[in-house]
Amino acid sequence: MPCKFCKDKPVITLTNNNVNLCRSCFVRYFERKALKTVSKYSLINDNEVIGIACSGGKDSFSVLHIVNLLAEKRKNIKIKIIAIDEGIKTYRDLEFLKKYCKENNLELHTYSFEKEFGITLDEIVKKLKLKPCSACGVLRRFLLNSKARELKVDKLVTGHNLDDEAQTIIMNNFRGTLERSARLGPITGVKKDKRFIPRIKPLYFLTEKEVAVYAFIKKFPIDFNECPNSKISYRSDVRKLINSFEEKHQGTKHAIINSFLEELPLLKKQFQTSVIKSCSICEEPCSSEICKVCGFINKIKTVK
Ligand code: SF4
Ligand code: ZN
Repeated sequence: MPCKFCKDKPVITLTNNNVNLCRSCFVRYFERKALKTVSKYSLINDNEVIGIACSGGKDSFSVLHIVNLLAEKRKNIKIKIIAIDEGIKTYRDLEFLKKYCKENNLELHTYSFEKEFGITLDEIVKKLKLKPCSACGVLRRFLLNSKARELKVDKLVTGHNLDDEAQTIIMNNFRGTLERSARLGPITGVKKDKRFIPRIKPLYFLTEKEVAVYAFIKKFPIDFNECPNSKISYRSDVRKLINSFEEKHQGTKHAIINSFLEELPLLKKQFQTSVIKSCSICEEPCSSEICKVCGFINKIKTVK
């Protein structure tokens, strides 16, 4: 079947409605959909400083391009790119991203676990015998939030797509951690606390496949290296499960997101009363006496 709009050769079939699109109609569809998410949920407003968390992968390059399109149109949005090197052997390589930012005159700030915490992720995992992704997620979120605040960023853009969000929703259901789901959605957060920089997700309604096709068409200089830890993660199991369901029952991923968005106001209401404390060591916001990051650092000091 040719492209629905111009009868040209198709490059993709959209999974939620079986529509075929050619290269240029798909690019238009993708950019419109991302920009519609930005305007519908008021993700980016005039005169804001927007931080973009970039890993150098397809999602972050795509979202960077979308926010850049918006900044070129509006002229009153400032962009600061934040990249984190976790210290994973054979993986994180920020060279493509650095070159791209230099060529496109984009302000890039890079940080590493090694410099900020005095230890790489590989060393933490080895020392504490932890699951890499849980430690990585906690430390990266902490760094992104504290550095975004230091850089006086109003909102932090992430490249999360529809597949990522559907996986996180199911992971929270399977693990019984519904409180975490209350923080999800196109803009994160349950309660306003000026120490938390809101995270926004312009690619929220675009699938992983759509982002991959967009990044391919746009020829972004992507680092195709896959993290060696991704295969052993809980997320990877949930991802396989959802993908196999989607294959048999088309539209499953969109249905997970749509039903979640209907429940989200209730979840937010339910978990609004949970108290945000300050970590007694680093004073960052957290839910217990000591934040998870300081918990890790304390453990590292005691383990030989
Ligand atoms: Fe970190 Fe896990 Fe992602 Fe690797 S797969 S970058 S360890 S969260
Ligand atoms: Zn702390």
